[in-house]
This record gives sequence, C-alpha cells and structure tokens, in this order.
Amino acid sequence: MSKKIGHWINGEHRSGAGERSGEVYNPATSKATATLAYASADDTREAILAARAALPEWAARTPLARARVLFRFKALMEEHFEELAGLVSSEHGKVMSDARGEVTRGMEVVEFACGIPHLLKGEHSENVGTRVDSWSVQQPVGVCAGITPFNFPAMVPMWMFPIAIACGNTFVLKPSEKDPSCPMRVAELLHEAGLPEGVFNVVNGDREAVETLLTDEHVDAISFVGSTPIAETIYRVGSEHGKRVQALGGAKNHMLVMPDADTDQAANALMGAGYGSAGERCMAISVAVAVGDETADRLVEALAPKVRALEVGPGTREGVEMGPLVTKEHREKVSGYVDLGVEEGAELVVDGRDLTVEGHEEGYFFGGCLFDRVTSDMRIYQEEIFGPVLIVVRAPDFRSAVQLVDDHEFGNGTAIFTRDGGLAREFAHHVECGMVGINVPIPVPMAFHSFGGWKRSLFGPLHVHGPDGVRFYTRMKTVTARWPTDEEAPAQFAMPTMK
Ligand code: NAD
Repeated sequence: MSKKIGHWINGEHRSGAGERSGEVYNPATSKATATLAYASADDTREAILAARAALPEWAARTPLARARVLFRFKALMEEHFEELAGLVSSEHGKVMSDARGEVTRGMEVVEFACGIPHLLKGEHSENVGTRVDSWSVQQPVGVCAGITPFNFPAMVPMWMFPIAIACGNTFVLKPSEKDPSCPMRVAELLHEAGLPEGVFNVVNGDREAVETLLTDEHVDAISFVGSTPIAETIYRVGSEHGKRVQALGGAKNHMLVMPDADTDQAANALMGAGYGSAGERCMAISVAVAVGDETADRLVEALAPKVRALEVGPGTREGVEMGPLVTKEHREKVSGYVDLGVEEGAELVVDGRDLTVEGHEEGYFFGGCLFDRVTSDMRIYQEEIFGPVLIVVRAPDFRSAVQLVDDHEFGNGTAIFTRDGGLAREFAHHVECGMVGINVPIPVPMAFHSFGGWKRSLFGPLHVHGPDGVRFYTRMKTVTARWPTDEEAPAQFAMPTMK
C-alpha cells in the first residue's frame, strides 16, 4: 500500500495536520489500498475559511459565467468517465455497469445545474400598486457543507455541490471515509475546469470533521445523506447552530405485487432492485409485499432460482451481477440479520451466508438471501439491513398492504406492480412515502425533479436536487420599488395597502 489521501483545500492537495488516519480497502480482496488522513478540527476550519474567503468573488460572478465552469466540468467528467467509475467500483465494490450508472446520474445533476441562469430568473410583478413593481430574486446562502455516505461516492456529492456552486455558494464536502478517491478526483477535475480556488473543498475523515462543520459559525447550510440516527443528530445540532439543514436518512422500501401483476416482470424487477449494488442502496427494494397467498407462492417460486443463480464476484469482472459488501464489519452485520430472521421464525428460502468467490476468498462477498413469511413484528422487517436480503411479506389485500408501508418508520421510496391503473393511482395518491413507482421498482427522480423521502427518511422540509435543490441553496429576497414622481407623498400611518 503506497497511496496516501489527504484533503483538497483552496485548490490544492493538503496532507492535513490531524494525527488520525484510517485505511481504505478494496472490498473484493480485503486489501488496504490507501491511507486516508482524518481531518482535525483545525484542518476542517481551514477548508471552511477557504470557502468563506472565496465566496464574495464567486457569488459576484454572473450565473452564466458560473454555468460555463460547470459545462467544462461536465466535459471533463465525460472524458474521465471510465476512470471515475473504476474508482467507485474499486473502493465501494459495486459492479462496473452500476458504477457507470451512478456517475451518469451524478452528471445529470451537473447538466441540470448548467441551466442555472434560467433557474435563477426569479419572479416579477408589474404594478402591484400604482407605479409600484415587485420582484423576487434568489441569492446564495453562503458556505455550504455536504456530508455523504459510502454507497454513492460519486452521485450523492453531485446531488449537492453542482447546484450549490451554480447558485453562487462555496462548498466543503466531507465524503465517506470508506471510498474517498472518487470525490478527490472530482475536486481535481473541478479545478481543471477553471473553478476558482476555495470554491470547492474536500475534508476527509469522520466525526471530528463533521462536528466542526456543524458548529462553525462560518458554515451557513448543511446537506447530509446517511443513516437515520446520524441524520437526525445532524439536523438537530446543525439547526441549533442556526444553519439551514437537509438530512436524508435510511429506508426500508416496499414493493407491492398485486395479483394481476405479471409474475416474471415483478420478479425481474425485484432482482435488480433488491440485489443490485448488493442491496446497498437507499432506494433498494428490501420488502416485497405480495397481495394474496397465491401471488406470494408464484412470486417466491419465480424469485428463488434467480437468487440462487446470482453471479457474485469482483465488480470489475465482466458478467458479474453483484459485488462484495463494503466492509468486513458490514458483512458481519448483514449476516447477523439473516441469523436473526431465522431465529424470529421467518422462512429462509435462499441462504447466501456461506458463499465464497474462488480466487477472492478474503473478499467481503455475501450471497443473495430470500426470506418468505416475514411479519411486521420481526426486526428483519422493521430495521434497515442494507444488504442483499429480500424479504417477502404476505398481505391479504391491497388495504393492508398499503397500511404496512404507511405504518413503517421510513418513507423513502415504494412501488406497486399492477395492471390496474385506478388502483395504482390511488396508491400513488395516498401512500405515505416521498417517492413512488408504478411498475417502476426504483423510482429515483431525475435530476430536474427533486429526491427525498418522508417520515424518518428525511429531516428538513426540502428535498435534494431539482427545484428544491435550487431553493435549498438560495435565499429569496423580495424587492418592492416605486420611482419618485412630482406628486405629493404625504406621510401614511396606516398599514400600507395597494390601491
Ligand atoms: P453513515 O450514517 O454511517 O455515514 C454517513 C456520513 O456520516 C459519512 O460521511 C460518515 O463519515 C458520517 N458519520 C458517521 N457517523 C457519524 C457520527 N457519529 N457523527 C458525525 N458524522 C458521522 O451512513 P453510511 O453507512 O455511509 O451510508 C449508508 C446509509 O445511508 C444507509 O442508512 C442508507 O439508507 C443511507 N442513504 C440514504 C440515502 C437517501 O437518499 N435517503 C441515500 C444514500 C444512502
């Protein structure tokens, strides 16, 4: 192991003054590939001050000038597309096709942010009173921080910073300590695209860096994506310190399979949504709710051979469908949940616990698991497992299936598979969830719409990217103006009203 990863502050690499560090692993081999410096509070403050210093000049640039930097960045991302996807796969473990998809989804937010001159046009009303005009403009919030999870090291930071900087803010990113190489490469590409020093900074590390971002007076807004307990704390502490906060948390996404759904289509959708990225997606389907016993029997019968046949191996190998889990600890956690499900009395139809991959015996691989007859009182139903473990819950009818989704702690995404348009419409309208798919298993909104869950999957009123992204990263100012004329303007002591 030779690679050392530090921070990116004020347009250059820094090794940092912090004394702590951690290792970054290739999960397919369990070998350490780099040593990552963990930012101290002082390192983090340096990044915040660099962002603060860069703010006036960057915010003063025209939206078009800011967009042009993003256009160049987007072109560089295309040029380095395979390299970025490779960095994602080597530290996260996901298969290359999935890593390419992730980089593409991130790039789409950059494309959206390139439209910032249009997005910041604001509102104008002529003649709100006699010869009085009024308009609203959206101005930058200031220094924004992003704290991101391991499972999308390219896409999730790109949910945030392209829009933040397009709106005229400066940014400090604290990526996951498990897969920091892609965000660091992104920082270099932004620099190459002509982004001024200090507009985008990366501090690597853990809690110490996060706590500084949450409490430092020079940080104005925090975007967080990660697990629910941390999201809740981030929201509370950041808000207490007067910051604007959006904090996205965990999930347990249900997919309803109605009796009229095509079983093969539903099973194939569940394979991708449940086992893609080894289930390490916040929009993964982890619960299949089969409506009626007959539907459940058909579904489990269709799923079981597919789960057994999953091609598991290193993400870089052609034809592999599922890579390893991210760390040894996470593999143990997921395995512990499968043990628990058996103890709780669920029926383990496919057991992937003992899987090994030839030539990669030390990798953190875990085979696909399938549970049937799971009930809502079981912990494997209630808690987020974040691994390739799909559970089937049997519901007697549509109403009780919807009730399951509504009663769950999380409300990130959900889906329904049916040919009944009226029922699908009713589901989409009533269900207590932020993102809904109709015969679409992973309804991740495109960059020009906003992404976010309900209930304990999101703390704060605004979702990420799309129109809410622009709202989050701007402050609205409304101006009311009258040009003086020669008419008399006597003092008015009543509340001004427009005639
Ligand atoms: P995590 O909560 O462990 O870590 C997220 C970030 O918070 C990382 O940068 C980490 O370094 C930092 N962090 C961890 N512990 C901290 C602490 N005590 N104090 C301050 N900062 C801390 O999440 P993860 O394991 O990296 O990612 C998986 C989780 O993220 C899952 O729960 C998944 O559902 C969720 N997620 C949600 C969405 C969404 O859009 N809702 C998207 C992706 C991932």
